[in-house]
Amino acid sequence: MPKSQSQTSAPDIAARSPSHLFYLSSLRRPLIDRAEGIYIWTQDGRRFIDGSSGPMVANIGHSNRNVLDAMKRQMDRATFAYRLHFENEPAEELARQLAAKLPEGMDRIFFVSGGSEATESCIKLARQWAVATGQPKRWKVITRFPSYHGGTLGSLAITGDDALAETFAPMMQVMPTVPAPTAWRDRDNLTMEQRGIRYADMLEEKILSEGPESVLAFIMEPVGGAATAALVAPDSYYPRIREICDRYGILLIHDEVMSGAGRTGKFLGGDHWNSKPDIVALSKGLGSGYAPLGALAAPMRLVEPLLASGGFQHGHTYAGNPLACAAGLAVLGEMDRLDLIANAAEMGNLLLGELNGLAKRFPFIADVRGKGLLLGAEMVADPDTIRPIPPAKRATQRLLDLAYERGLIIYGRRVKGGVDGDNFMVAPPMIVSAEQIGEIVAIIGDSLQVLATEFDL
Ligand code: PLP
Repeated sequence: MPKSQSQTSAPDIAARSPSHLFYLSSLRRPLIDRAEGIYIWTQDGRRFIDGSSGPMVANIGHSNRNVLDAMKRQMDRATFAYRLHFENEPAEELARQLAAKLPEGMDRIFFVSGGSEATESCIKLARQWAVATGQPKRWKVITRFPSYHGGTLGSLAITGDDALAETFAPMMQVMPTVPAPTAWRDRDNLTMEQRGIRYADMLEEKILSEGPESVLAFIMEPVGGAATAALVAPDSYYPRIREICDRYGILLIHDEVMSGAGRTGKFLGGDHWNSKPDIVALSKGLGSGYAPLGALAAPMRLVEPLLASGGFQHGHTYAGNPLACAAGLAVLGEMDRLDLIANAAEMGNLLLGELNGLAKRFPFIADVRGKGLLLGAEMVADPDTIRPIPPAKRATQRLLDLAYERGLIIYGRRVKGGVDGDNFMVAPPMIVSAEQIGEIVAIIGDSLQVLATEFDL
């Protein structure tokens, strides 16, 4: 790989002037120079493997030439078109192609610019549908705990995370939760399939205790994201959830912001179970890091009542932006041309096997799970009792730092409640090769070895 061109003139972190930006923490990071494929170079000359595609975004890899060319062509024509004044071809065509990839009948698309906007649009669509169809008492959106559906106040209200919600709770209507299906943790005599049913039935219990006439929707990630480190429920869970929603006339929303757009080895995470949600939220991999892009998909039967009563009372200035949609369209084109969904399935299996191998070598890895290239692992102090590593040790952060020092980016967030522990996620771009998987696994193995020694695991 060629080295960064600007590395010699790049100031190191200590020499850089104070930043006017502020984020989650004041920790300074190296300046990015450029990115290509699964690699990122910084201005101080380091090379990183993007083992998590950023936060599971760069699905087709960085600096794809065909996507950049398509964006440049669109840039030369029009970069903005306000939807109340003009239609634009990239948005029309992307909606058409997306509909063809989604479950049958999911053919009404509403574009937004990110994941939080997408999930919030889903619940606003659901609510307006309920009002338009004479069900104004339905407003509660049941969600799972833990879960992550976004950072705006509407999407945060359906996020199952006490720490994130605490400060803002007085400003929003926090929604009822059911436990995420952490079936592997349960120490009972049930089979996994029985546990799947039991977790799904908790939704029914919650609907009954809340009052079925007040419940509007249930939102879930078919393959878990950051809050549950790629948690997958037993197969029995998915059809049972659909059955329960149908029984009470409740809309099923799938948040596919992270699991969608091919990452799991199928276009949607829910496709692994042939799931039929009523509304789907997409983002991240849809724009694949080339442009801020998100979407909501729903069938005409939900959209029609709104259109008949004044339209969808919702929208954002940049919705359906032609440049973002041209990027999304080219991303889908590359996904098809390079057969990346099949590669995600194949490389995902390889990586899953390798992570299971690491779990044998390091017994403090208590569970490895996920689908395709959305994989996660949980780390505990004692695998028999699943006693967590003391939070004060910040094992997740230490592991991420060890990998980072070795030139690999992986993802992880210590989560309280349900998952209650340290985890990490590996989700490289869908163009990853078997050889690159080997590189990634070797660095994770070295990092886990240091962690085991340092923390006496
Ligand atoms: N939903 C899921 C499942 C996510 O993983 C995320 C982000 O991580 C969001 C929603 C929010 O997306 P964004 O950060 O683009 O607003």
